[in-house]
Amino acid sequence: MAYPSLSPLVEQGLLDEILDNLGFIHANDHCRRNCTHCPAFGDTSPVQMTPFATLTRLVRDVGEAFRDRGISPKRSIVSWRISDPLDYHVRDGETTRNTFDVARIWREHLGQGLYLVTNGSEGKRFARTALRQIAARPDVLSQAKLTITPCDQGWGSERYLQNIADDISVLAPLWDLGSTRMEDPDGLRFRINLKSTADRREEALEFMARAMDLAGLDAGAAQKALADPRRISAKDIYDLGSYVGDSPVVNAISIKGEGGKRFKDTAETRSHHQYGIYPDGAVRVIDMYEFKVYEATGEGGAPLRVDLRAA
Ligand code: SF4
Repeated sequence: MAYPSLSPLVEQGLLDEILDNLGFIHANDHCRRNCTHCPAFGDTSPVQMTPFATLTRLVRDVGEAFRDRGISPKRSIVSWRISDPLDYHVRDGETTRNTFDVARIWREHLGQGLYLVTNGSEGKRFARTALRQIAARPDVLSQAKLTITPCDQGWGSERYLQNIADDISVLAPLWDLGSTRMEDPDGLRFRINLKSTADRREEALEFMARAMDLAGLDAGAAQKALADPRRISAKDIYDLGSYVGDSPVVNAISIKGEGGKRFKDTAETRSHHQYGIYPDGAVRVIDMYEFKVYEATGEGGAPLRVDLRAA
């Protein structure tokens, strides 16, 4: 078998369908950062991390399956969903693997740089190291987006400000490079998403100015960044729901339709249903408009899994 970890999908005759709609191979899942605007708000599950050797073999198998079919992924495949990609760190023999290592294997086996959307390193050593390594080898990255928001638990503290400023100083050189993310060919390799409700936008912009100053950007560079939405994009907060119900963010924009069902049609940027492979080996279907996840099932309704032991 050319790609042993995917053999259960081959046996079910579902490998082509899954490759066609694959959006996620999770290096990590779950998050305890508790940002108030996030569907992970209130999640107390431990963060799950796929061992690096397992992840490498799985990603290699997926890459090989694409190549065997003479195709390449038709979308960005990412390494997390409701989690922070920079939180990935696992022991691997004598060394610690981080998001840079994840990005390396993405480039090597999937033929695409990793897409990162992060709320920052929080000053953690492994995460800061990953950012520096990525900035030094930006080909492993398709695009990095740094989310800055009053919804972060650290908002208002000097420590949050300093950590964000440090991350900006590491990533700012990537403003000079174009995005290689296929969904954003006109964007830049780095973008800041400044996410706030409309009533807190001024406060967020003031924070942004202080952070750029602290990051060492001169006034001209800061002004240029603020004037260019490809560099800094001010975004609204939507009520995407959370582990504890509705978003606790005051004035979050509701996306509930009839019957109270959430639905955010983002057909221009993402397809409605995508498959994800999770750290426990389960293959799940992610409804990208409703923010829901379902078990994918094979013949007889059995949950679909990859074989991580073979990976
Ligand atoms: S926004 Fe990101 S960092 Fe914050 S809780 Fe959600 S997944 Fe975690």
